[in-house]
Amino acid sequence: MTIKWTDRSEPLHMPVLPAGVEQAEVAEVRIDPQAEAGVLAHLAGHDTEAGGLLLGEAYARRDDVTSVALIRVRAGIAAADSTGTAFSLAMGSSVWRDAQAALQPGWRIVGWYHSHPGLGAFFSGTDRRTQRAFFAHPWSIGWVIDPIRGEQAWFLGPDSEPIERVDPDR
Ligand SMILES: [Zn+2]
Repeated sequence: MTIKWTDRSEPLHMPVLPAGVEQAEVAEVRIDPQAEAGVLAHLAGHDTEAGGLLLGEAYARRDDVTSVALIRVRAGIAAADSTGTAFSLAMGSSVWRDAQAALQPGWRIVGWYHSHPGLGAFFSGTDRRTQRAFFAHPWSIGWVIDPIRGEQAWFLGPDSEPIERVDPDR
């Protein structure tokens, strides 16, 4: 799967994906630079695993509102009470309440992020199960970061398909 991935955050004039659309192909993922900076700053301060949820928007194609044209990540919500594993983060954390409270009009929970300090940026079997259990929309993003090695990787949808970071300006 090749997905255009960009951190440009200029205003978009596209239809918001209707609720309930589950047969969708994502064409592009974007993250706002301040959202990426916020997530990296959160994870940089921990030598144990930490994480949170990603908030943002899912846009539909103009000519086909059941296809996802673009996912835009607008903000990360840190899980304050995470006990250290991705699974517990996804299972029983007040981060879900915090994320709901932080949603702006048109936003939804578009995925999750967590760190693997010193272990490398990959999705473990547990991470894949978490993605399938809690982030199973076709537009659900999983972002894993190793803040010590400076690596990161992105995955999409219930099958945790890798997202390649492609700079469209190059
Ligand atoms: Zn993990």
